[in-house]
Amino acid sequence: MKTEEADRNRDKMTGRDRLNNRKLNEIEIAQKKTVLESRPRSLVVRLTTRCNLNCIMCDSKDGAPDLSAKVIGEVRDMFRYLEFVTWLGGEVFLSDIFEGLFTQAASWPGLFQNIATNGLLIDERWARILTGARVNLTLSIDGVRKETYEKIRTGARFEKLTSNLDMLNRYKDGHKDGSGGINLSMQMVGLKENIDDIGEAAGFMKKHRINQLIIVPLKSSINDPSSIYNEHEVKEGMKRSLDRLYKAAEKNGFRIINGLPISPGQTASDAARRPRDKDKQNGGPGCLYPWQQMIVSSDGEVALHCLCPFGGFGNANDSGILEIWNGEKFREIRRKVASGGNGDCCNISCVSGVIPSGVLRID
Ligand code: SF4
Ligand code: SF4
Repeated sequence: MKTEEADRNRDKMTGRDRLNNRKLNEIEIAQKKTVLESRPRSLVVRLTTRCNLNCIMCDSKDGAPDLSAKVIGEVRDMFRYLEFVTWLGGEVFLSDIFEGLFTQAASWPGLFQNIATNGLLIDERWARILTGARVNLTLSIDGVRKETYEKIRTGARFEKLTSNLDMLNRYKDGHKDGSGGINLSMQMVGLKENIDDIGEAAGFMKKHRINQLIIVPLKSSINDPSSIYNEHEVKEGMKRSLDRLYKAAEKNGFRIINGLPISPGQTASDAARRPRDKDKQNGGPGCLYPWQQMIVSSDGEVALHCLCPFGGFGNANDSGILEIWNGEKFREIRRKVASGGNGDCCNISCVSGVIPSGVLRID
């Protein structure tokens, strides 16, 4: 019994399973395998659909409110192999199981945690816990001005957001190595309401020491030719805003991940935001997510990535997560992406290259 515990602790500290899984995964990607022995390297888990807000564009509150005990157990069993785990809601800080899962994941030194949150429920106790761990907080902000923020994020107060950001930065400063284990990112959904705010986001990021911005499309817009992103005014307005954003981001060293089906105009930052696609040059697939990641929703439904328009992978309440990982749908998508024949099923923005290939993988 004692030996088993010692083995478990040694595995945790050396990260042996994680390293071996990563190596095997890289080999299987290079071989374009459709059935994998390697396990997901990144897992995204929607813990709950409960939320304290009512954002105008929300599509995250449908389905069962909480994950089943069966799925929670399987998620825990994957910690030893995972490089990234992302906790989503609803609002994760309303989930009863979040603190236990977060603490257990934090005990695996090589596992990096990302928390998507509106940030309004983070109190001093949580700020202390977060700054003592290795974690990226992705704050859903959507507006960098009070009027825009409160118009989109119904029920939220801009002053509460900024005071919580100040508190998190205070805790970071007080941490023994001066930075804390915590990193601050923000996310904006591209909307008609926040076109100007996207162009001004770098000033907000600088003020609140946020170093990464992820811009995501409305889920309902994917592959929809009549989406707002094809409206002339939205397209041109977003292009101008993205231009301003990229220029300011380059100056300040911020990272921008643009998942919108709209590219900025050609600026000096072009090379920086479109990382060279080594795998594609070598004849490999451009998108690596079908080999690297899965999403499990609170109702057990499995998906691949928020940019993917397809579903039907299976439900983790009915079969094991790893069974779904090598199920028919995952194999079909791997086959299509590996052969370049994914134009009939994937997000046209991924296939056409509007979404930079560097976004479509974990490195
Ligand atoms: S914070 Fe997220 S889950 Fe809550 S209402 Fe807004 S978009 Fe929906
Ligand atoms: S290319 Fe886009 S749509 Fe296709 S699998 Fe990758 S992320 Fe999903």
